[in-house]
Amino acid sequence: MRKLSKRDYYEILGVEKGASQDEIKKAYRKLAMKHHPDRNAGNSEAEEKFKEASEAYQILSDPEKRSKYDRFGSSAFDGNAGGGGFNYNNFGDFGDLGDIFGSFFGGGFGGGRNSRSRSRARKGSDLRYNMEITLEESAEGVEKEVSYTREAKCSTCNGTGAEPGSKMKTCPKCNGTGEIKQISRSLFGQFENIEECDNCNGTGKVPEKKCHTCGGTGVVKEKVKKKVKIPAGIESGQRVRVSGFGEVGENGGPYGDLYIYVFIKEHEIFERVDNNIVCEMPISFTTATLGGEIEVPTLTGTIKMKIPSGTQTGKVFRLREKGIPYIRGYGKGDEMVKVIVEIPTNLSEKQKDLLKEFDSALHEKNNSMAKSFFDKIAKKFKK
Ligand SMILES: [Zn+2]
Ligand SMILES: [Zn+2]
Repeated sequence: MRKLSKRDYYEILGVEKGASQDEIKKAYRKLAMKHHPDRNAGNSEAEEKFKEASEAYQILSDPEKRSKYDRFGSSAFDGNAGGGGFNYNNFGDFGDLGDIFGSFFGGGFGGGRNSRSRSRARKGSDLRYNMEITLEESAEGVEKEVSYTREAKCSTCNGTGAEPGSKMKTCPKCNGTGEIKQISRSLFGQFENIEECDNCNGTGKVPEKKCHTCGGTGVVKEKVKKKVKIPAGIESGQRVRVSGFGEVGENGGPYGDLYIYVFIKEHEIFERVDNNIVCEMPISFTTATLGGEIEVPTLTGTIKMKIPSGTQTGKVFRLREKGIPYIRGYGKGDEMVKVIVEIPTNLSEKQKDLLKEFDSALHEKNNSMAKSFFDKIAKKFKK
C-alpha cells in the first residue's frame, strides 16, 4: 500500500475546512487538469501532485471518510492502523469523475500495465459449501461426501480453448497486439484508452478452430464428489478448507479452494458450552432422598452414575472427559449432569396417607435447609 501524504488534504486542494462538496469538486477538477499526466508526460512532480490531489479528493468527497479525517487525520486511513486504506484501484470512490479517471488508475497511466496484469495467471474463485452435522459427529469427527458443480478446466483442450491439433493464428480483432485502442474525449481533451483484447484475452493469438467441448472458453461445468474429513471438536460456524477444489483459475492460474462451513444441529438432550456438554437429568424423589444409581446418557452411549443420598434438585455432577475434544491439542471437555428432582404427581389416597404418615415422623434435622432459613427469619423479627 502506498504511503499517504502527510500534507493536509484541505491544504492540498486549496480549500477551507468548511468547504462545500461543490467547492471541493471544483478545486479538484482544476488541480487534476493542471497536473494531469497526459499533459505533463515524464514530469514526476506533476504526477505526484496529481496523485496527491486525487487522494485528498477521494477522502474529502466522501462525507463519511471526510468526518473520519476531520476527527483522526490521515492516520484514520493508514492501512497498518486497520483503517480502510487508500486504494487507487477503487474507481467507485471517485463518484462521477470515475469514468474520466478510470483508465489512469488501473495500475499505470495509459493502461499499458493494466492490460498486461489482466492476462496474468490468476487463482480461481473459492467456493462455499454449507454442511450440517450432529453433535455426536462433531465430537468424534466425521467423513462426509460433498457433491457440487464447479467450473473446471476443459480436458479436451487442456484449458487452451483450441481444438486439439488446431494451429494458433493471429487474433483478427487486435492484429496480434493483444490490445484494443480507443480514443475518448473528456474535459481534458482527447486521449487514448488501451484495453485488453477480449477476443484473445490479451495474448494476440487465437486458435484456428475452437475446441468442440468448451466452445473455445477452455472451461467446462464439472460435477464434483469429494470426501471431506471434519475434525473432532469442530464448532458451529467453523470452516474446513479443501485446497484446490474451488473453481478453475484464469490464464493457467491454480484452482480456488472449497470451504466447508459446518453447522451443528440442535441436540434433543445436550447443549454444548465451550468444550463441555450439559444435560438435565430427572431423578425420582426417592432416589434423591435415599441415594442410588442412575443411567446417564453420554455422547457415546449410557453410563451408570451414583447419586448420593440427600441430593438436592439442581445439583450438578461432572463426568470427566465425556465432553467434546479440543480441536487443537489434547483431551476433552466434561459432561455436566444437572439433576432435577421430580416431585411425584397424581398420588392415590393410599400414597397420600403414607406421605402424611411419613411427614409426621419427620424431625427438624431432616430438613436442615428449612430449619436454617426459618432460624434466620426468627432472628430478624424477634425483638
Ligand atoms: Zn476445450
Ligand atoms: Zn486479440
